[in-house]
Amino acid sequence: MLIGVPAETLAGETRVAVTPETAKKLVAQGHVVRVQAGAGLHASATDAAYEAAGAQITDAAGALGADLVLKVRSPQASELPLMKAGATLVGMLNPFDAEGLRALAAAGLTGFALEAAPRTTRAQSMDVLSSQANIAGYKAVMLAANAYPRFFPMLMTAAGTVKAARVVILGVGVAGLQAIATAKRLGAVIEASDVRPSVKEQIESLGGKFIDVPYETPEEKEAAEGVGGYAKPMPPSWLQRQAAEVAKRVAMADVVISTALIPGRAAPTLITEEMVKSMKPGSVIVDIAAGKGPGNADGSVGGNCPLTEADRTVVKHGVTIIGETNLPALVAADASALYARNVLDFLKLVLPKDASAVQVPMDDDIVVACLMTQAGEVKRK
Ligand code: NAD
Repeated sequence: MLIGVPAETLAGETRVAVTPETAKKLVAQGHVVRVQAGAGLHASATDAAYEAAGAQITDAAGALGADLVLKVRSPQASELPLMKAGATLVGMLNPFDAEGLRALAAAGLTGFALEAAPRTTRAQSMDVLSSQANIAGYKAVMLAANAYPRFFPMLMTAAGTVKAARVVILGVGVAGLQAIATAKRLGAVIEASDVRPSVKEQIESLGGKFIDVPYETPEEKEAAEGVGGYAKPMPPSWLQRQAAEVAKRVAMADVVISTALIPGRAAPTLITEEMVKSMKPGSVIVDIAAGKGPGNADGSVGGNCPLTEADRTVVKHGVTIIGETNLPALVAADASALYARNVLDFLKLVLPKDASAVQVPMDDDIVVACLMTQAGEVKRK
């Protein structure tokens, strides 16, 4: 089968969907792999490395015109005309972007969005949300440490003692857990909040403290359990109590990393302007939900904090607020290595060994969940 690997064209996207390591495996399975010249450069994968892996170097049309196109992000308007009707596309196609999916369907593509894979044990090896969120959590702490004008660890020196940084993590999914682990390795004191009660043990096992907001009604408890491991919007009664608890911790924090997301909805506002005002000068917020917030009066989108500006670092009320929207792209080589392995594992389901064409087994729950477009139609329910 002819497999194409285009260079990503979305601004700031440094990752690549196939690395020389995974290209070699696809070539060994008998496929022809065509990689656009320079596609892996930001991710430390040279054209020569792809050629050594048995891939061919081509141009954008050569890569996008393949029977199976492997991408990181959904094709841009400039890329779609170079793709073939009837071809298959695998990538992070954004299942909530109805308009984008309609464009893929209209182009006649069979599109698989890897973000839609269920959070099950069998799907773990192809779980792009986890592989990339893990990187986002790590990099968020790195950016915070870089912007914070003090040390993270407690230090006892001849010139006096330095206090450890107090880090508050809001939202403890994959990114939040990695943020806790990374901040802990740097010696910070950590407190964390999430709506899901199951995270308490996970936070404590990483050496953090859970900001407990007990549930007072069955409705609160049921909402907190969420669906399929994901959060659901919490009742206002609980959110008010959580906000009061979080406000106290944020006022004392040196660094806040917020990661709270609810799939398909605007990210909840957890850090209000009042809370930012209560923070010490020089404190840092890294808002991983940047660009996914409920929208501000001035048209900017915000994140878990309404003062966040997507893809910008701003200083408001003396607090540095970092709104990087694509943290994994800042760790391009490892983000690509993990993503490419996720893609390779997904391909085992739709391109079994010795198959010469992509198959769509409708009895496979992962395939069905990821299938977004087929035969000119949007399939996503
Ligand atoms: P996510 O990126 O969707 O959200 C990040 C976190 O924000 C979540 O923990 C969520 O509960 C939290 N959140 C939402 N609203 C909040 C609020 N108002 N206040 C505080 N926190 C709030 O999460 P994710 O990292 O994609 O993980 C989602 C779930 O999937 C988790 O339960 C995770 O353990 C699970 N998971 C399972 C597997 C698997 O079984 N294979 C793999 C990865 C993740």
